[in-house]
Amino acid sequence: MKTVDALNRLGTETAFEVLARANALAAQGHSMINLGIGQPDFPTPPHIVEAAIKALRDGHHGYTPANGIPELREAVAAELEPRAGRPLDPDRVLIVPGGKVTMFFAITAFGEPGAEIVYPNPSFPIYESLINYTGATAVPLMLKEEDAFGFKAEDLLSLITDRTRLVILNSPANPTGGVVAPEELHRLAEGLEAHPQVTLLCDEIYSRILYGEHRHASLLAYPSLSERIILLDGWSKTYAMTGWRLGYSYWPEALVGKMARLAVNSYSCVNAAAQHAGLAALTGPQEDVERMRLAFDQRRKAIVEGLNRIEGVSCVEPGGAFYAFPNISGTGFTAKQLEEGLLEEAGVAAIAGTSFGANGEGFLRLSYANSLENIEIALERIANYLTERR
Ligand code: PLP
Repeated sequence: MKTVDALNRLGTETAFEVLARANALAAQGHSMINLGIGQPDFPTPPHIVEAAIKALRDGHHGYTPANGIPELREAVAAELEPRAGRPLDPDRVLIVPGGKVTMFFAITAFGEPGAEIVYPNPSFPIYESLINYTGATAVPLMLKEEDAFGFKAEDLLSLITDRTRLVILNSPANPTGGVVAPEELHRLAEGLEAHPQVTLLCDEIYSRILYGEHRHASLLAYPSLSERIILLDGWSKTYAMTGWRLGYSYWPEALVGKMARLAVNSYSCVNAAAQHAGLAALTGPQEDVERMRLAFDQRRKAIVEGLNRIEGVSCVEPGGAFYAFPNISGTGFTAKQLEEGLLEEAGVAAIAGTSFGANGEGFLRLSYANSLENIEIALERIANYLTERR
């Protein structure tokens, strides 16, 4: 039974708070460049929008099955097939109102007092928040700048105990842009054979946003782990659909029915028109996904180069997602001080690394899902702010 104490343990996503403050400052007439919130700055591609409009015109106004419309679950299974290297079962797909819901279902299903949940640190703040909410022990896997914020299988495996129930993985990663190397994933898959009590939550929401030599690798490719993997992905980042609230997950056979029941007990089903839009996204042309990825790549290069030119700041090259995670420890500011100063005095919204876990001290997260022009202005503002305050 959850109590008010459990609710008091819930954390938050600072990005939403910084967004509200940045918008309030902008409304007061301050010039503000928002590199805070993690969402594509592009509109949803028109053919996807049209599919939602058509669905509404065609009368898709009622409830859908709780686990999602069958044709969308089939499209998701087909989408995941190359990642798994084998055909997947559409009945193990759950359509959810955003990737976050998969996270909520998975962490609350496995978390309880006495259980341990391993999660990356720094990482998406909702992992730690939800682990604390369930009363489970949050066991951080410390991500390191010298590993370009990827991780070594042995470091992760060494954290697993008899009490570990869930391990959370996120590649490409928020807030660092880190990508796990396929050989480390392979070693991890082998090592996990010795820990059958452990389920994996693989957050692959940035699976289609990778750069350079990086290729997406998934634990879904290991059939021996098939009954222990919860795969989280969705439309928000890939198709610029954060506000549509649409995501998907792939579950162990023993769990998917229970999760559909949770859906019935909470949101009933996902908005019907949004599901039709999601179907058009997966089955329609993919050129827009590539166009956005190429634009992010160009901005990635510009922001990393620009940050590395600023005295006291250094930034490793992110391999995926759309975040730069510069080391700002040479500036003399803590992460929170710099977040505050940049927002209030320099007109740049960025997020302190500590908002993603204690291990994020000395870092700042900058979302480069913004125009090249704005990125250049933001870089100049950051450099000037640091020069003036030094
Ligand atoms: N997982 C990670 C790592 C994220 O960064 C985000 C969003 O920022 C999500 C999941 C949630 O995505 P959605 O908007 O689909 O709920």
